[in-house]
Amino acid sequence: VKFVYDFTEGNKDLKDLLGGKGANLAEMTNLGLPVPPGFTITTEACKVYLDSGEEPAALRDEVSAHLDALEQKMGKKLGQADNPLLVSVRSGAKFSMPGMMDTVLNIGLSDKSVTGLAAQAGDERFAWDSYRRLIQMFGKTVLGVDGELFEEALEKAKKTKKVTVDTDLEAADLKKLVTTFKKIVKTEAGRDFPQDPREQMDLAIHAVFDSWNTDRAKLYRRQERIPHDLGTAVNVCSMVFGNLGPDSGTGVAFTRDPASGHQGVYGDYLQNAQGEDVVAGIRNTVPLAELEQIDKKSYDQLMQIMETLENHYKDLCDIEFTIERGQLWMLQTRVGKRTAAAAFRIATQLVDQGLIDEAEALQRVNGAQLAQLMFPRFDEAAKVEKIGRGIAASPGAAVGKAVFDSYTAVKWSRSGEKVILIRRETNPDDLDGMIAAEGILTSRGGKTSHAAVVARGMGKTCVCGAEELEVDTKRRRMTTADGTVIEEGDVVSIDGSTGKVYLGEVPVVPSPVVEYFEGRMHAGADDADELVAAVHRIMAYADRVRRLRVRANADNAEDALRARRFGAQGIGLCRTEHMFLGERREYVERLILADTDEEREDSLKALLPLQRKDFVELFEAMDGLPVTVRLLDPPLHEFLPDITELSVRVALAESRKDANENDLRLLQAVHRLHEQNPMLGLRGVRLGLVIPGLFTMQVRAIAEAAAERKNAKGDPRAEIMIPLVGTVQELEIVRDEAEQVIAEVQAATGVELKLALGTMIELPRAALTAGQIAEAAEFFSFGTNDLTQTVWGFSRDDVEASFFTAYLEKGIFGVSPFETIDKDGVGSLVRNAAKAGRETRPDLKLGVCGEHGGDPESVHFFHEVGLDYVSCSPFRIPVARLEAGRAAS
Ligand code: PEP
Ligand code: MG
Repeated sequence: VKFVYDFTEGNKDLKDLLGGKGANLAEMTNLGLPVPPGFTITTEACKVYLDSGEEPAALRDEVSAHLDALEQKMGKKLGQADNPLLVSVRSGAKFSMPGMMDTVLNIGLSDKSVTGLAAQAGDERFAWDSYRRLIQMFGKTVLGVDGELFEEALEKAKKTKKVTVDTDLEAADLKKLVTTFKKIVKTEAGRDFPQDPREQMDLAIHAVFDSWNTDRAKLYRRQERIPHDLGTAVNVCSMVFGNLGPDSGTGVAFTRDPASGHQGVYGDYLQNAQGEDVVAGIRNTVPLAELEQIDKKSYDQLMQIMETLENHYKDLCDIEFTIERGQLWMLQTRVGKRTAAAAFRIATQLVDQGLIDEAEALQRVNGAQLAQLMFPRFDEAAKVEKIGRGIAASPGAAVGKAVFDSYTAVKWSRSGEKVILIRRETNPDDLDGMIAAEGILTSRGGKTSHAAVVARGMGKTCVCGAEELEVDTKRRRMTTADGTVIEEGDVVSIDGSTGKVYLGEVPVVPSPVVEYFEGRMHAGADDADELVAAVHRIMAYADRVRRLRVRANADNAEDALRARRFGAQGIGLCRTEHMFLGERREYVERLILADTDEEREDSLKALLPLQRKDFVELFEAMDGLPVTVRLLDPPLHEFLPDITELSVRVALAESRKDANENDLRLLQAVHRLHEQNPMLGLRGVRLGLVIPGLFTMQVRAIAEAAAERKNAKGDPRAEIMIPLVGTVQELEIVRDEAEQVIAEVQAATGVELKLALGTMIELPRAALTAGQIAEAAEFFSFGTNDLTQTVWGFSRDDVEASFFTAYLEKGIFGVSPFETIDKDGVGSLVRNAAKAGRETRPDLKLGVCGEHGGDPESVHFFHEVGLDYVSCSPFRIPVARLEAGRAAS
């Protein structure tokens, strides 16, 4: 095997082997773009090193051969005293990964070659500055010295000299600083800073390999589901310098605006500086457009290169570049990150430019981005004071009073206040406060911090790592960069989609994308309209190619109508239990308490017309589309008063000797129906089999409603669904009763009714015996909520608040199995049950109506296992449509 590739030998498709950075450097080299020469050590070498603790035997010689070739090309030798070649060593995995070592620059400098560099550049200050940067970076990332120590020494040097910026330190000062830095290395790392350039390079390479396995990198991979065995590549690249004077500089550029997608000149430039100066914000950058005045030749060349790159990658690219004394060099490119809105716009723009086709456009956007565009957002026109910016960790727009501890968050929210929980960082003790808050703001931590992970899991707005905000939890306040103090109770607004933090209440406006789906807005000319037009086109592509149909979980006409506007092709789950609440509770109580058949029939009779009316409305709203009505599912005690409250009431009444008969009977019933595990108790089909007349009343209501709609020239398409079935025998009994009732209604009304009868598959036994169950079912709808609960043995109502946080933090899940289908466990039951069901009944209709029906990743899975439709809450319908299209294209 070959462990080292020259930049001329690779290409962009070798990301597995060369990492993202290395593959793209090679691609640019082969496009003839000005890339400083160098080579990439493969991920394979890294894997051998990590497995065995040693580099592969052949690596040293291969690196030597490539270094020789590089030295020849450059006409100088690594660390050569009078004319040194310097290199950077950079990590570069297949996926960019925070938590891994990034870069060591200026490798090859030593006490000897520093003078060579000074002569070469004609700049002594530059040479010593480069040397102190090397010792600092090397000390920190390769030798593990605390970076603060170098920073402190640098600050001290500036103080002594009475200057404020690094650039005011002169050669002599920097020379002294080098001595100090070397001492720090010696004391802290217990060794001298290596003077041998090859040793510097080898140690840096090993440090990159080792950084694959830091705790932070491992945690990130677990959470992002990145395999642990990929390893990282190492890029060794000849140095070019942006800090050699005013005709040098460094910058970043985008081939189009990553926020809007518009074409134009986007980026920043910093004269006379190196890359990390930009990040450190030592001086202010200027907009890239100003480079045209500073250095027209490089500017024109850069514009040319950007066009080449965009046409080549057929996508938005971001770029890092350096100008060394008027010569432009490309240091990095990759397909760039973009906002959700830009993703939709760019995809359609590229179609219009003829660069990509519609199928490819669908792959350039995703459901998570669409969901983000559907959140309400802050009114951009509002006059507001921005006080900070952090990482956009979990989208949404949240407004509330600042609170600095969990206890206050809970207390205030109980009394009806909206609060934003502000912490330096959060930990599991903050969970109650996080649940109570509208949003969470932290001053520390990144996208994988506790706050970010948990907030995303809860769908809560979160901005984390807003570092310029100083949070003082003891004094319950926060101070902004300009000294403004925000006290407990002051109103703040946080934007989880941009990371921006505002003082005061920012007005919230509905998303234009939702307005569009609601039919209240049409594609036009202004900015929001442009986005809407792009969404409209992408949705049309998705609808054209998708195989999965998309239905809604809805149980009233209002939700059904909204779902229809959002593109629902029917109702996949109407939960009838809400129809038993409110004023109807009384009838249900009577039903439960009934001692005689007569009493029971009376209460059922009272419920019948109410149910029928619900269904008439629903069938009318969904006229011409299928409506799956699920018969009553939850345990009966949910319709009765709370056991403790009722006991207290009865006890008090008894002490007053005026206990009423009905309350006593009720209490008896509550006791009788009380279950330790109601989720595994008397619910679903079990209830239907135990309470005579309950399910037949519901079936009658459905059949009569359908007949009424038909008489009104409507087109009702009702389907009757039985919940919590574990065995075909249960289903057979209910089916026979239902068929009889339907026949009676047909006879009485003279209307012919075709009502499909099917079942939910939401228990492991049902999934395992799906072949038998299909004998009695015309359709299956997978209830993946209960199926996840029963397959994992997780209580769906409790886990999120108990141990899931710990599981998410430990990376056991990247995401809750109640949110994204667990493909290997629950998913494999779904796959096998679908197959077995269709073997029994080839035209068996298959759907899913658990929460997973609207989850992007799960939708792809349901497409793949051959379901006919997914059903989800009305708001998630556009996301499901889009993902179904992406899955099929
Ligand atoms: C399910 O269990 O997945 C389901 C859709 O039913 P419910 O959520 O009402 O239990
Ligand atoms: Mg269920």
